[in-house]
Amino acid sequence: MNRSPNVSWQDGTLSRAQRWRALDARGATIWLTGLPSSGKSTIGAAVEEHLVEQGDRAYLLDGDNLRCGICGDLGFGRADREANVRRVGEVARLFADSGAIAVVALVSPFQDTRRQVRERHESDGLAFYEVFVNTPLAVCIERDPKGLYARARDGLLDGLTGIDDPYEPPPAPDLELTPEVGVQAAVERVLTLVEDRRFAPVAALSLAARPAGVLS
Ligand code: ADP
Repeated sequence: MNRSPNVSWQDGTLSRAQRWRALDARGATIWLTGLPSSGKSTIGAAVEEHLVEQGDRAYLLDGDNLRCGICGDLGFGRADREANVRRVGEVARLFADSGAIAVVALVSPFQDTRRQVRERHESDGLAFYEVFVNTPLAVCIERDPKGLYARARDGLLDGLTGIDDPYEPPPAPDLELTPEVGVQAAVERVLTLVEDRRFAPVAALSLAARPAGVLS
């Protein structure tokens, strides 16, 4: 992670534990990764809505929306894509630190950058749940709600993930969702994942996360 020289983190007067206790909250990041049109935004929005309805502070950080602002200066080359993921990861980490559940919907195509974001959370004592929205490319092309695949097919868009830019699937996600699951059941699985691990210490979370997490 890049860091300005001669700058160090300034603690406030309130600890995370005090903040979370006072707010009756427990922050975390749910990170939805997958191809364009795989369903990240749809599932993420529904997860956010359910969490808020049940009284949690949750906020959807949608990749497209963040590219309208904080990531608006970044393009789609490899370096910019990685910077995009790291930047969104930092925003998510701050949301989680505040006691909110950050629900991130972002293609985030590179395994190494996603791993860095996870490590940034876990080394900071924050839970990070990687959810692989594993929708086959053919299904994504058929759905194409934003017309991206059609534009790529017509030669109007270069560097679309899955077509002429790589996507590296997560080797060991906390949860894997395939399209047969359906949106409602997908949301329930994400909520169950968060609920089951909610009060486990983060070290236990990361151990539990790796081997057996695939639920599709
Ligand atoms: P992404 O955020 O991954 O680019 P979107 O959520 O914007 O994808 O688009 C996915 C599209 O697929 C939406 O129109 C959604 O209604 C539709 N869809 C159909 N079945 C599913 C499913 N099982 N899970 C998620 N989305 C689905």
